[in-house]
Amino acid sequence: MNVLKFGGTSVGKPERMKKIAELVLATPGKKIVVLSALSGTTNTLVAIGDHLLLGQKAKAEEAISTLEKHYQGFIKDLFSSEAFQAIGEEIVSRFFIFMRMLAASQFDNKGYRELLAQGELISTELFYQHLQERKISSRLLPALYFMSIDENEEPELEKIAERLKPLIGALSNVDIIVTQGYICRNHRNEIDNLKRGGSDYTASLIGSAIRAEEIQIWTDIDGMHNNDPRIVKKTIPISELTFEEASELAYFGAKILHPSTIVPAQKYNVPVRLKNTMDEKAPGTIITGKETPGSFKAIAAKDGITAIKIKSSRMLMAYGFLRRVFEVFENYKTPIDMIATSEVAVSLTIDTNAHLAAIETELKKFGTIEVDNDQAIICIVGNKIMDQQGVLTKVFDALNEIPVRMVSCGGSANNVSVLVDKQFKDKALNALNEGLFGLK
Ligand code: ASP
Ligand code: MG
Repeated sequence: MNVLKFGGTSVGKPERMKKIAELVLATPGKKIVVLSALSGTTNTLVAIGDHLLLGQKAKAEEAISTLEKHYQGFIKDLFSSEAFQAIGEEIVSRFFIFMRMLAASQFDNKGYRELLAQGELISTELFYQHLQERKISSRLLPALYFMSIDENEEPELEKIAERLKPLIGALSNVDIIVTQGYICRNHRNEIDNLKRGGSDYTASLIGSAIRAEEIQIWTDIDGMHNNDPRIVKKTIPISELTFEEASELAYFGAKILHPSTIVPAQKYNVPVRLKNTMDEKAPGTIITGKETPGSFKAIAAKDGITAIKIKSSRMLMAYGFLRRVFEVFENYKTPIDMIATSEVAVSLTIDTNAHLAAIETELKKFGTIEVDNDQAIICIVGNKIMDQQGVLTKVFDALNEIPVRMVSCGGSANNVSVLVDKQFKDKALNALNEGLFGLK
């Protein structure tokens, strides 16, 4: 069995949705098809929810009406027969009655999450009816029957697997099972979600739970590239990555892949294949446990990074100092990304400034603090590059003209990260593209 996930842009236009049906049909064997909401829908639902939380009912109603018109137009092109037009109209009107009911009620965070779930619920229903109209045998399997998260918002993989077994068993004569990405139930059994972009994660959780042959993530790009095509002129697609390499890149490539996607797949050794709906012949990227020889695989960057330096003579030969520093970040639920230490100072980076002021105040108890905003992490990934000779020389030769604020290597064999001021990010990506890949 394969799991095929299609993102928002892949289902965002009626003709694209029809194309998805073709791709699903062309894939041999049994498959579970995971769909996102139509592109733009979740953003609109977020906006509607925000208006409602602020009590701005008129603004919410305006956005609801615009979205409703979009769906009315969508079904006109999706369905051909009158009978299925009527089915489409019924679906759309039912969803919008429900949204208006939510809007009219005492709107709270629970209502907000129910609202967010509507995008995937409606896209899968429309796709399923499209398959019905084309007489393609399939079934809808609601994700809310099996997908769940615990009180720490972590997916309950074992429970998901237990619930899926009989559900899929009951559909043993069906080749195409359609389900929603992103949505789930939480520990209070309320409707919840796996955070923005979470449909990838749904696909990998299902694929891991059923030990699928492959988890295929279909997007509108040719899998992963060695560098950011928006910043450097020439990039090359990466055909193979290991789970380790992919996890190093996941944080940076969140636009391509939800960062948690690799975790369950790696645990159960289920390959993840990234494919392009616009060019299904393109090989894409396959992520497996198999190591491929070679050196540098990819360079990725993330900006909006803040570097914090804590200088303290108390750090000298002391133990427990780093724990106390890290505790401050833990108390403010702020993840630390890069770290570099000397005997009397430690520098670290965070990617959110939400609690920066409070964190600074606490850190001042330990020593002097320096904060640099607008930094960028550049991450260089390759299979066991840190075990190879001359790797750092190549990296720093390439970065010869760029001031480097921090370096982190040796954390894993597959990664070297450097921190530069954001103004040097593009230059650094280009210099590394030339220095490490010979691409100009
Ligand atoms: N529709 C959700 C979002 O936009 C989930 C997804 O597309 O992966 O975040
Ligand atoms: Mg996505």
